[in-house]
Amino acid sequence: MKDTNDIYGNLIGGEWLQGNGSSINVNPSDTRDIVGLFACSGLDEVEQAVSGARAAFPAWAAAGPQMRYDLLDAVGTELLARKEEFGRLLAREEGKTLPEAIGETVRAGQVFKFFAGEALRVTGDTQQSVRPGIDVDVTREPVGVIALITPWNFPIAIPAWKIAPALAYGNCVVLKPAELTPGCAHVIAQLLHKHGCPPGVFNLVMGQGSVVGDALVSHPDVDAVSFTGSAATGSRIAATCGTLRRKVQLEMGGKNPMVIMNDADLPTAVQACLSGSFFSTGQRCTASSRLIVQSGIHDAFVEAISREMRALRVGDAMQADTQIGPVVDQRQLDSNLRYVELARAEASEVIGGEQLHLDQPGFYQAPGLFLGTSNNARINREEIFGPCATVIRVDDFDEALAIANDTEFGLSAGICSTSLKHASEFRRKVEAGMVMVNLPTAGVDYHVPFGGRKGSSFGPREQGRYAVEFYTVTKTTYQLA
Ligand code: NAP
Repeated sequence: MKDTNDIYGNLIGGEWLQGNGSSINVNPSDTRDIVGLFACSGLDEVEQAVSGARAAFPAWAAAGPQMRYDLLDAVGTELLARKEEFGRLLAREEGKTLPEAIGETVRAGQVFKFFAGEALRVTGDTQQSVRPGIDVDVTREPVGVIALITPWNFPIAIPAWKIAPALAYGNCVVLKPAELTPGCAHVIAQLLHKHGCPPGVFNLVMGQGSVVGDALVSHPDVDAVSFTGSAATGSRIAATCGTLRRKVQLEMGGKNPMVIMNDADLPTAVQACLSGSFFSTGQRCTASSRLIVQSGIHDAFVEAISREMRALRVGDAMQADTQIGPVVDQRQLDSNLRYVELARAEASEVIGGEQLHLDQPGFYQAPGLFLGTSNNARINREEIFGPCATVIRVDDFDEALAIANDTEFGLSAGICSTSLKHASEFRRKVEAGMVMVNLPTAGVDYHVPFGGRKGSSFGPREQGRYAVEFYTVTKTTYQLA
């Protein structure tokens, strides 16, 4: 990134343009470090971007797969080649550790390359009509102009897994990234521009959700909205899109259960929970936030995970020995610390979870474990989105499964068990979009569907070949033979 007072502009209609003003992107590991100034846009920029996308749509929809393949493949190749550089930017603006940030950048590159290939594989369906002498074809067409609204916690991977399928299937895009982490979205915009994305096909409009996001969702020339973020914002977007009869896809929060059975392999369970609950500072929609532990293994599990949790090194995301980076900003840290206070009332014991003051100013928090909790407590009903997990003690498998399902969310769910019977029954009966057996609840592949049930998701799945459902519309054509 530039180290000047230059403002990183929006990309609208193929031009880099300034917004109304700018917002400061601050490094959460060291708040003295300014990552850059980024355009803060208003309604004029939204208008320009949507009308530019609308104007570009007919030609892009007709451009055919080779051009789309070449563009997406080139972006994917460059993301992979420059993974350390972009990973450093990601770690600096979001606060996940450098290996995690490089890993996320690699994921974004893989996603672009996967959807480059998918652009070549858009298939239809030819059927015999029930009426003799008529041919029936089912074909897929692009949806039109799609607004993409993304959160701060995966600032390069989530934009990638929305932009790449949208463009692969012939849509035009307006991306509004989270105001906290515009740098990674700007990198993707730079690469699309550099590799010849036609003007207006991809547009970046940075700014506040309540201004830019809101205007995009309700804009009459937007055909579909793909959103990832909190349940509260998602519900508002769903209501607007419902009224406007606009295609919508929502990926929202989680309160993901991880069941530890008496017959679990203890080291496997402890590692899965450490990683699922605390890595990426717990700022993952798939984080293991409720650890549901059977009585026979409870004390040994709690003793082992507490010991390992306390040994985790919290620090600057860029430092080589850091295992847990900072919380993303002061607001999220304050919210996390309020939940730690609540846990003091709702749990029988609170281990860790306190704010940490290091030599440099940053938003540091020790990982926290809340013992002896009831599933009805607020700490078990509400998404905390920080490095905190609860422990719920249960007597048997049936109770564990019932508690795992007793939540308004349904994104990811895990079980640690060596019993084939328990693992199989859990896979069948748990109400979640993704199920993990002897693996952390977080950590997924990019070529298979991603998404949840109940309050976690709405609309067609993201990622893999299933993304075609959201980013295309089907047309059924009858022709006299
Ligand atoms: P958020 O506050 O809902 O924000 C998400 C995006 O929506 C941001 O770009 C935000 O802009 C924008 N926005 C805010 N108000 C809006 C409005 N009225 N209209 C349109 N857009 C609006 O969520 P977050 O705090 O960034 O992200 C954390 C949440 O995301 C957690 O709940 C987490 O579980 C969820 N998440 C889910 C998944 C999944 O796939 N299920 C993946 C990752 C994260 P500004 O931030 O710039 O205001």
